[in-house]
Amino acid sequence: MKEKMLTGFRPTGKLHLGHLHGNINNMIKNQKNYENFFFLVDWHALSTEYQNPKNIKTDLMECVADLVALGIDPEFTHLYRQSDIPQISELTLYFSMITPIPWLERCPTYKEQISELKSKDLSTLGFLSYPVLMAADILIVNSDIIPVGEDQLPHLEITREIARRFNYLYGKYFTEPKEMLSKATRVPGIDGRKMSKSYNNAIFLADDFETIRRKVRMMITDPGRVYLKDPGHPEVCNVFDFYKIYKEEGIEEIENRCKQGKIGCTECKDEISAIIYKSLEKFQEKRNEIKKDLNYVYDILEEGKIKVRKIADRIISDVRKKMGID
Ligand code: SF4
Repeated sequence: MKEKMLTGFRPTGKLHLGHLHGNINNMIKNQKNYENFFFLVDWHALSTEYQNPKNIKTDLMECVADLVALGIDPEFTHLYRQSDIPQISELTLYFSMITPIPWLERCPTYKEQISELKSKDLSTLGFLSYPVLMAADILIVNSDIIPVGEDQLPHLEITREIARRFNYLYGKYFTEPKEMLSKATRVPGIDGRKMSKSYNNAIFLADDFETIRRKVRMMITDPGRVYLKDPGHPEVCNVFDFYKIYKEEGIEEIENRCKQGKIGCTECKDEISAIIYKSLEKFQEKRNEIKKDLNYVYDILEEGKIKVRKIADRIISDVRKKMGID
């Protein structure tokens, strides 16, 4: 039996290069080695977007179309929507009975997010109990492995603590999931900050060549370089970060040409734009095919829902028995 690996993905509309190199490439690479659960966390999205939830569903469909076009294969991966699995909400309720409030209040991302997302009122029970919902997401299929970035480790630790507390109170049942620290590649946005849709600095996977070229041309390069013949410093250049991601071989050539003042920044930018676009061509063809028939996307989610509900049903029925309310 393969180990179970689970990843939740926030439906944010069209995907960008930051998503691709952040964790989707890792997922695709690993998908044949595990039984994969890949789900779109529309309830989590509600915890911050509850005042304006109308885009969540459209964003979710865009995401699924992108993921399938990228190579997330429903043959190896259960692809589903969080809100299609009502057993998650029932398990959240049971876990909320045994989770001490200070565990949630001390979670570092809780205060961080409240101060970062100042425009939103996040003083809600739903937002505070976000890690409990996340524990239920993971434990409703008794997942073994969770790919995470370092910043998400505290959330996973709460999941383990909840599993441990449940096992202590009602007898051993839940697996304490292990982290798989993913080597996510940091992709800078066109303004040099982390690439993010909310910063309006993203290159989307669906962008056409002209759009990519226009965005890349806006990137900040070596500020000390005024004339073509000035020696450049690729190590401080935003554009060169993209060469590092996209050009495993031959990167020294561009590095040397820059350092020796033998290539202009516009030429250098146009070259990387062409490389980025070329890497997305097949994905874009497939995505256009999928978008012609969105029923295909609905069918994938329906299939995921049926399979995951079966697993979740078994777990929730065991949990009820263990807690004496069957
Ligand atoms: Fe950056 Fe390329 Fe210009 Fe060098 S030539 S500073 S790597 S854009």
